[in-house]
Amino acid sequence: MEKKKNTIEQFNEHVMGSYGRYDLVLEKGEGRTAEDENGRQYIDFGSGIGTNSLGYCNEKWVEAVCAQAHSIQHTSNYYYTKVQAVFAKKLCEAAGYDKMFFGNSGAEANECAIKIARKYSFDKYGKDAERNIIVTLKNSFHGRTMGTLSATGQDVFHNYFFPFLPGFVNAKANDIADLKRVLDENKGRVCAVMFEFIQGEGGVIALEHEFVNAIFEECAKDDILTIADEVQTGVGRTGTLLTSEQYGVKPDITTLAKGLAGGVPIGVCLATEKCSGVLTPGTHGSTFGGNPLACAGGNAVLDTLLAEGFTDSIVQKGNFFRQKLNELPQVDHVSGLGLMIGVSLKEGDPHDVAKKCLENGLLILTAKEKLRFLPPLNISYEEIDKGLEILAGVLG
Ligand SMILES: *Cc1c(COP(=O)(O)O)cnc(C)c1O
Repeated sequence: MEKKKNTIEQFNEHVMGSYGRYDLVLEKGEGRTAEDENGRQYIDFGSGIGTNSLGYCNEKWVEAVCAQAHSIQHTSNYYYTKVQAVFAKKLCEAAGYDKMFFGNSGAEANECAIKIARKYSFDKYGKDAERNIIVTLKNSFHGRTMGTLSATGQDVFHNYFFPFLPGFVNAKANDIADLKRVLDENKGRVCAVMFEFIQGEGGVIALEHEFVNAIFEECAKDDILTIADEVQTGVGRTGTLLTSEQYGVKPDITTLAKGLAGGVPIGVCLATEKCSGVLTPGTHGSTFGGNPLACAGGNAVLDTLLAEGFTDSIVQKGNFFRQKLNELPQVDHVSGLGLMIGVSLKEGDPHDVAKKCLENGLLILTAKEKLRFLPPLNISYEEIDKGLEILAGVLG
């Protein structure tokens, strides 16, 4: 106990208080189990926030990252490295995109998407056309930078930091009439529509297929780019490399981050041929973007994910997880896709439940008024069982 108090006190004395944290000091992890500094173990149903896609210290991943650290850990973007080229080829080919940009986070990936969308219209229609509006959805989440906060369609985020960036307008998710109204009111001024297939931070709420189809139909009419923020839904999380595959659509731009490098910071913006040439030398950049350690981690994640049968196993484990959740009498509704799972409870505060789960050896997440599960993609059935037993005990 003494040790734990020391770390937390020392931390809070020197680190800004921008997060609500649990009183837990994690020291190491193995597989799907984390261990605190007192040696207590926790099954991890959160994987960071969906970042440790292969769990803790996955052998192949550790090997790849360590080997890279031993050869070259970083170089500026004035030069090339092989590990970046290998990763970019692998990702673009698997995802079916022409080119990508390297950043270090979801917010950065989305900033890139926003800049591409605005410059695409600027290049094509000129400055005077002022085609710079990006339509985003209510209840969305796109990041914490000023640009991506402005894009985020939740009033609770639009506080303190005024002025926010102009040029973002919200439409209601799953409301085709409202989408058409917003596009109509801003006719000729919209350069992109940006959305999450499943609103993660917003409470694990999926877009309906008809609504997604409407986005693509409306955008096609007026040369408006479609931007899919797959920072949370991408990289196998929902059972396919990209969630767009399951919706049968091809966004002009897709952003990825969280789970892409297995826990090393990375964010990428993928673009189709239509807009992959928009960013020219000097128009965008990032010092750490394409960091070789991140690319090596990313290669290990993609190699695992793209191996025969792996994404199918995500779907099957997701189904098993959901079925087990639905058997719990306290569960009202289970949402999401694959191993991106939201749960609304009939009663009780999800944050209390998360805290009690932690006290009983299970790490889970919340999103709005829901419990949220983003377990490592290689979690075993036994671990799902074991974790849900703890949850069942907590729910009483
Ligand atoms: C987490 C998240 C982001 C922000 O990612 P950061 O890496 O925290 O910048 C953006 N969009 C979605 C959908 C997310 O889930």
